[in-house]
Parts: sequence; C-alpha cells; structure tokens
Amino acid sequence: MICPKCSSDKISYVANTISKNRGAGSWLFWILVSFLTCGIGLIFWFFMALTNKKTITKTRAICNNCNHQWDI
Ligand SMILES: [Zn+2]
Repeated sequence: MICPKCSSDKISYVANTISKNRGAGSWLFWILVSFLTCGIGLIFWFFMALTNKKTITKTRAICNNCNHQWDI
C-alpha cells in the first residue's frame, strides 16, 4: 500500500468503529405508546433499539509523509 497522493509507503492503519443507530422512532412517540400500553411499549422500544444497532468497522489509512487520509 502506497499513498495515492505522494507515493510514500509509510502508512499507518487505524481501525474506525462507527456505531449507527437507524432510529427506533422518536422518544415522544414511544413514551406515549408506553402510557397507552402500561409499559409494554417500552419493551418494544428496547427490543427495537437493540436490533437496530449497526456497527461498521472501517479501516483508515493515514500517510505519515503528507498526512493524507483515505478509507480502505
Ligand atoms: Zn502521502
């Protein structure tokens, strides 16, 4: 692997972990549902929050020569 900008081979690799939440609806909506269902809505929200979590691991290369960064 060489830098696409300066062709240096002094590259550092950094693991980037991004936690993405696709959203389980607005808080107000789920609080309202919880009131209407006597708390059952909260269990649904908890379940949805768990299953909606998405973790993406990306490796980022950083050139030690010119500081250019790019995803690989
Ligand atoms: Zn470079």
